[in-house]
Amino acid sequence: MQRRSFIQKAALGATAGIIAAPALAQTAPTINWRLASSFPKSLDTIYGASETFSKRVAALTGGKFNIRVFAGGEIVPALQVVDAVQAGTVEMGHSASYYYFGKDPTFCFDCAVPFGLTSRQQTAWYEHGGGRDLTREFFKSYGIMNFLGGNTGTQMGGWFRSEIKSVKDLEGKKIRISGFAGRVMQHLGVVPQQLAGGDIYPALEKGTIDAAEWVGPYDDEKLGFSKVAPYYYAPGWWEAGPQLSFMVGIKEWEKLPKEYQAALEVATYEAHVSMQAEYDARNPAALARLLKSGVKLRTFSKEIMDASYQAANDVMEEEASKNAKFKKIYEPWKRFRQDQNTWASVAEAPMQNYLIKPGKLK
Ligand code: CA
Repeated sequence: MQRRSFIQKAALGATAGIIAAPALAQTAPTINWRLASSFPKSLDTIYGASETFSKRVAALTGGKFNIRVFAGGEIVPALQVVDAVQAGTVEMGHSASYYYFGKDPTFCFDCAVPFGLTSRQQTAWYEHGGGRDLTREFFKSYGIMNFLGGNTGTQMGGWFRSEIKSVKDLEGKKIRISGFAGRVMQHLGVVPQQLAGGDIYPALEKGTIDAAEWVGPYDDEKLGFSKVAPYYYAPGWWEAGPQLSFMVGIKEWEKLPKEYQAALEVATYEAHVSMQAEYDARNPAALARLLKSGVKLRTFSKEIMDASYQAANDVMEEEASKNAKFKKIYEPWKRFRQDQNTWASVAEAPMQNYLIKPGKLK
């Protein structure tokens, strides 16, 4: 009898254990979503953000909310993630909002515009500078809610077959660059080219194009551009801090239990912080390897930067004059950018500049 009573108590204890488990495990529905990424698995830092996100959401919901990640082109063409989320083909996506420049240049504020915000500033704008409300209002007309989804930090200006010293050297050059930057570059006499990642190397090798921009040392190294275009320019003024975004269908979001919404949102923050940290940690070693292999590092001249800044400003003002949605974000955004850079000039920039070339230690 004693043994039987022990078993009964043990069974009762086990049952009690189940009852005492968090309410989430009792009532939470199993939900399966699909996430379409715009990126190939080879861009492990950017593609990886979706996996970081998806794993955390599953962990926070006891494995009940599963978000399966698909690489660019697997179930949705890489540059049609907005269309797929809008149509409800997938519940959510991970993309760069400036890919949708052709639909409306206003999308770019959620990612990057020429001479825009750095990574830190972009997050500040989204979180506490009015950016979330402004961009979400815009995205609402596409049935999408946008969340932070990572950042690469300031990108490189790309790979050039020959040295570019002045604006005159840019004239007639065919550069693989798209969207907003392509439009600005046209003002400088450049002939922008649209090419998918895999087509860039052969075009550079043959000389069909004169230059190509991609991301930065860690990603660029894998594509081997240095062998056919040895001049590596900085900075990519069109991408001071391009932000990636998680895009969730509003109808699907509204169906989620509150706890799942919270899990989803908090996981976007982890992916956001982790991506920038990974780029910052990996780029220096990649750049060192590139330089060792003979890459010639160059900085765009002041003349080129000034002409590009002027052209970017002209294009932005022109867009604002004919696009009310663009203007609504552009005006407060411009003031935010000015305030941010004024503040950065006081403490951050002098600190960074000093540490780049510190005095000799005794
Ligand atoms: Ca780029």
